[in-house]
Amino acid sequence: MFNKNVIEKFKTFSTPFYYYDLDLLRQTLDTLKKAADKYGYKIHYAVKANANPEILKIICSYGFGADCVSGNEVLKAIECGFHADKVVFAGVGKSDKEIIAALKNDIFCFNCESIQEMEIINELAESLNKTTRVALRLNPGIDAHTNQKINTGLADSKFGIDFNKLEDIVKTVLSLKNLQLIGLHYHIGSQILDPEPFKLLCERSNEMQSKLEKMGLHLDEINLGGGLGVDYYNPDENPVPEFEKLLDMIHENLDVKSGQHVHFEFGRSVVAQCGTMVSKVLYIKPATQTNFAIVDAGFTDLIRPALYGAYHKIENLTSESSQTKKYDVVGPICESTDVFDKGITLPETRRGDLLAFRTAGAYGEIMASQYNLRELPNVYYSEN
Ligand SMILES: *Cc1c(COP(=O)(O)O)cnc(C)c1O
Repeated sequence: MFNKNVIEKFKTFSTPFYYYDLDLLRQTLDTLKKAADKYGYKIHYAVKANANPEILKIICSYGFGADCVSGNEVLKAIECGFHADKVVFAGVGKSDKEIIAALKNDIFCFNCESIQEMEIINELAESLNKTTRVALRLNPGIDAHTNQKINTGLADSKFGIDFNKLEDIVKTVLSLKNLQLIGLHYHIGSQILDPEPFKLLCERSNEMQSKLEKMGLHLDEINLGGGLGVDYYNPDENPVPEFEKLLDMIHENLDVKSGQHVHFEFGRSVVAQCGTMVSKVLYIKPATQTNFAIVDAGFTDLIRPALYGAYHKIENLTSESSQTKKYDVVGPICESTDVFDKGITLPETRRGDLLAFRTAGAYGEIMASQYNLRELPNVYYSEN
């Protein structure tokens, strides 16, 4: 919900645009920091959710680290103020160039997803006369009960190394002279609202920990990844995710030995609610079953509905009508998947009305493209 002043301001902005409520971002970060500090947990923000420099700088000011999935994310995070010793680099397909950039910057840790990848990092580190820290990303074989397109912890997913092979893999890593194995890493998926998968993840982590102990190994770092979901349906009622509830539950279920550090990599839950995409209605086209509200934003501006069938709450910010109608809200792009939502009820909508697409701060602006040679969306902030 936006107050009158904010909506008046929106009328002066060029559409389509992203609007970030930086107060809400700070409120979210305060809540996360308090919940993490309670147990000394370390937070790395998942840069891929939103790499807008203004947002990165604010997140960095909380002392959090960065979780990166490309060489350019590593460089961007460092440029925006994150200390290299708090930067981790994950991903199934790190290129040689990306690995070299991360090695030269002495990042904290590579989260590795295959034996061959570790052999290559070892070789490249040797050629630079360096040793580097690595963690094994294990695929824990857990169903995160989320959208199948963002479920990553199942056995047939491309991510991670089968947890059943832990012992063999550890032996191989220990033979690679320029790598120092410091921990285990997991990430089971995204938009997870059910606590159960996180509980199963704690159990799996405990089990892996005992296997390592039997091998006489002690690893200091346990990284449980990100994945906490947000309330896309009720952004005004639940603007800040329940970090404390999740971390309390983890604390109860996870075995942590003295000297060990527990890490999380939250992306969506940090930035989703503070962002809104705003678009202007271009045309209303009546059809037999519905009315098309054709807006000036398309999947080039916000791709989540077209890519994953994701839901964003849509509100008409400017209609003064007391009548409602059913609409299919669609974009201008020449693809039939360029649909934001179908059959939704909105107050009577006209050309020139502004529609807000809520909870768009994560995987929104960062996924924008120039398909159809469209311009990238504009960006505005609650401050300045
Ligand atoms: C995407 C990703 C995250 C962040 O996931 P969210 O659901 O946005 O919290 C964390 N860790 C890794 C390795 C990822 O790929």
